Amino acid sequence: MMNLEFERKLTIPMEVKEMYPVTPEMTEIVAARAKELEDIFTGKDDRLVLIIGPCSADNPDAVIDYITRLRKAADQVKNELFIIPRIYTGKPRTTGAGYKGLMHQPDPNAKPDMFKGIIAVRELHMRALKETGFSCADEMLYPDNHRYLDDLLAYVAVGARSVENQEHRLVASGLPVPVGMKNPTSGDLSVMMNAITAAQSKHTFIYRGWEVHSQGNPLAHSIMRGYVNKHGQSHPNYHYEDLVLLADFYAKTGLLNPACIVDTNHCNSGKDPLQQPRIAKEVLSARRYNNEIKKMVKGFMIESYIEDGAQKVDGGCYGKSITDPCLGWEKSERLIYEIAEML
Ligand code: PEP
Ligand code: MN
Repeated sequence: MMNLEFERKLTIPMEVKEMYPVTPEMTEIVAARAKELEDIFTGKDDRLVLIIGPCSADNPDAVIDYITRLRKAADQVKNELFIIPRIYTGKPRTTGAGYKGLMHQPDPNAKPDMFKGIIAVRELHMRALKETGFSCADEMLYPDNHRYLDDLLAYVAVGARSVENQEHRLVASGLPVPVGMKNPTSGDLSVMMNAITAAQSKHTFIYRGWEVHSQGNPLAHSIMRGYVNKHGQSHPNYHYEDLVLLADFYAKTGLLNPACIVDTNHCNSGKDPLQQPRIAKEVLSARRYNNEIKKMVKGFMIESYIEDGAQKVDGGCYGKSITDPCLGWEKSERLIYEIAEML
């Protein structure tokens, strides 16, 4: 017997989708945006992608407020940038301690409630789509939970702590949207390349109690997020030489649609969110020097919210991150326009 208390059986994705169905208009927006994004990853469209938003979607009202601001900026730069808000509803924790995201704790200061969490997550992604016309990005932290959102998402990331996990790789191989595989926290790029190879391949496996067959995901690609060395110190991997190394890895593999998103926060910024504008601009300049890098670097992942920085979970400041420190809205808006102008 396992040492687990089985509290209650939870509503399955099909039932939650019946309770909160997408409208035909919403499905149309998701499909149209999926096509645009596919064209960027296959090289038919040379706009840059910005996956931008808070580290964690802790407060639905603040997140919608943020995304509403983002909508206005996105409309201004639509010929240069394709913007995907981050609505990250599951947070991986380095030691397991701390806030685990909206899915676990719809109220960050109350005890976990997984049923309310499932509903809160679907409602938030639906609200974003309905109120702002954005299909969004989320991390696939728990592959089994992906089906609560699979009709809503534009982009999926597999995090640095999950990228070596077979289940994440196999489920990624069955997703119809671009999946960004992060380099692992150790920084070993071969682990990330292996994850992309696995996700681009066909597999047969067990998913949610079914025997399933995946078709392989040709849009699986890399995300460079910096790394931690054996002393626990952060190091960047967004520099010119790192991107050349990544291009060399891609050249050896024969993977489809070689692509990279540069994460400007996490170990690349040493979690100093105010470094993100500088990092993005450095990468844009690297793209200008080298055509391979230009083709490969498809955009940025930026941690951004209404207020600069971060606070404790019970900090109470509206629009300020309770996980990784973020770039505040004014600086983020300026950065969006600057990136668009530099292209
Ligand atoms: C994140 O994007 O907030 C995140 C947890 O990233 P990583 O997996 O790179 O640590
Ligand atoms: Mn983060």
